[in-house]
Amino acid sequence: MSDKQLHKKWRKEFREGVHERDNHTCQMCGAKDVKLDAHHITDRHDLPNGGYVLSNGISLCEPCHIKAGKPHTSGGMDFDEGFHPDELYKKIGSSEEEAIEDSWDLH
Ligand SMILES: [Zn+2]
Repeated sequence: MSDKQLHKKWRKEFREGVHERDNHTCQMCGAKDVKLDAHHITDRHDLPNGGYVLSNGISLCEPCHIKAGKPHTSGGMDFDEGFHPDELYKKIGSSEEEAIEDSWDLH
């Protein structure tokens, strides 16, 4: 499989797996039956293999996703209350260490 195909597969499995685990519900505000994003808690550029692992993903509705994306666009300087990556990891019972470890195991 080419790198491009592999990334496509990871992305699909990541999105579907995260939404299924989170019962298709926004993990921050509890919104259900809305458009959800599978958010990378640690930016995909900062993890091995793009960090497409369940331990790095959380289902968020659009307004919550915008808030969670702030640290990614501000170089990690700006966080909305409750949206620090550590708090997002806590929501899904994971940690950055776990996400890094799982990312190395992607295949
Ligand atoms: Zn939400």
